[in-house]
Amino acid sequence: MTEKRPIKVKSDLPHVTGYTCTLCHRFYHYEKEMLTCPACGEKGILDIEYDYDVISKKVSRESLKADHENSIWRYKAFLPLEDRDFSSFLRVGWTPLYRSLRLGDELGLKALYIKDDGLNPTASFKDRASGVAVAKACELGYDTISCSSTGNAASSCAGNAARVGLKSVIFVPERAPQGKLAQMLVFGARVISVIGDYRDTFNLSKAAIDRYGWFNRNAGINPVMIEGKKTASFEIAEQLNFEPTDWVAVSVGDGCTIGGVYNGFRDLYKLGFIDRIPKILGVQSTGCSPFVDAARANEPLKPAEENTLADSISVGIPRNPVKALRAVAESHGKWIAVPDEEILEAMRSMGREEGIFGEPAGVTAFAGVRRAVELGVIKSDESVTCICTGSGLKDVENALRAGGEPVRCHPDLAELEALGVVS
Ligand SMILES: *Cc1c(COP(=O)(O)O)cnc(C)c1O
Ligand SMILES: [Zn+2]
Repeated sequence: MTEKRPIKVKSDLPHVTGYTCTLCHRFYHYEKEMLTCPACGEKGILDIEYDYDVISKKVSRESLKADHENSIWRYKAFLPLEDRDFSSFLRVGWTPLYRSLRLGDELGLKALYIKDDGLNPTASFKDRASGVAVAKACELGYDTISCSSTGNAASSCAGNAARVGLKSVIFVPERAPQGKLAQMLVFGARVISVIGDYRDTFNLSKAAIDRYGWFNRNAGINPVMIEGKKTASFEIAEQLNFEPTDWVAVSVGDGCTIGGVYNGFRDLYKLGFIDRIPKILGVQSTGCSPFVDAARANEPLKPAEENTLADSISVGIPRNPVKALRAVAESHGKWIAVPDEEILEAMRSMGREEGIFGEPAGVTAFAGVRRAVELGVIKSDESVTCICTGSGLKDVENALRAGGEPVRCHPDLAELEALGVVS
C-alpha cells in the first residue's frame, strides 16, 4: 500500500477563488485538495472558479505574443497550479492549427482549420490534462497517480508521470487497442486490464484509488483535468490572432474535452481577449450517442450502448455530463451523431486531402462537420475548427480498415507495369 506523503508546500493560488458544484451550485472556498462536492458526493463534479482580475494582471494578448514558451505552460496563469518552472515536464500542447487546403472548399465553408492534437508527446489531446494532473500530483506530494481509461488518458498519464518520476497505476478495459497498451507498458505503468467494459474498469479504479490513496487522474471526477484541456482553445484563439472560427467541433465521450474547450473560450471572453465564444459542435458515433440522444429527446442523459469502433468515445455512461451539456448549450452549438462508416471515411479524407492521420475518435469531429454542413446546421458563410484529438497510429487495426489493401507485386518492373496501378 502506498502511503501518502505529507504535503510540504503551502499552496497559494491567488487566482483561484474556489469551487462550485455543477449539481447543487454550492460554492466552496479554495482548498488544496477537493475532488467532488461534499454535499452531493461522487456525482457532484466541481467547477474551479477564478479571479479574472488576478489573471489579467499576469497575462495579456501582448504578453502572450511575446512569450516563447511553446507548450501549455505559456498558460500557467490560467491553470489551478502554483507558479513554478515546468521545463522538466514533457512538451505538451502548442500543436499546429492547419488551414485546410481542400476539404474546406469541398464542403463550401468559408474556412476550415484542423488542430492536430495527435502531435502531442503521447499522441493525443489527453496530454493536456495529464500534464496538469502530473503537475498537481507533484505539487501535493503524491508518489503515485492512477486512472481508468479506454486508452489515451491512460497512456498519456503513464508517459507524463514517467517523465517526472511518478509511479502510475492504470486500469484499462480489455478492449483497449494494442498501440495504447504498448505505450503504457513501455512507460513503465502498472497496467491492470479489467475483464469487463469501461464501467467495470472505472468502478475498480475508483475502489483501488480510495483504498490506496493515489492521486486520482480520472477526468470525470477531478476538476483540475478539464482545466488542462482548455489550453487547446487558448491556442486556437492565439493561432487565429484572437479571432476564432464561428464553430469548433469536438468528439465527445465522457464530456471532459468539450467541457474544457468551452471553458477555455469562456476564460478568454471574460478577460476580453476574444469578443465572441465559438459555437461548439459536439460529435458522437451513432453507435454510442448518449448526449445526442438526450438532446434530440430533450430529456436527461440515459445510459447508451457502447457499439462504435471509435474506442476513445465509446462511453455509454458519460462521467462529465453537466460540463459537456453546458458547453453546447451556452455556446449555442449543436449535438450531432455520425455512423462509423462516416468516421472511417473521415479518416480517409483527412489523410488523403490534408495529410493528417487521426484515430477514429480523432477524425470524428470532422465527420460531424461534414454532416452538419449537409444538414444546414453549419452554413457556408461560416468558418470551422475541427480538433483532431488523437493520432491514427493509436489504432492501426481501424486505420487499415479505412486505408484498404496495398498492391502485391514481385520485385519485377514488368509485373508492376502490367498491374497498371502506377503511371
Ligand atoms: C478521450 C478522447 C476523446 C473524448 O474526450 P472526453 O473527455 O472523453 O469526451 C476524443 N478523442 C480522443 C482521441 C480521446 O482520447
Ligand atoms: Zn453539490
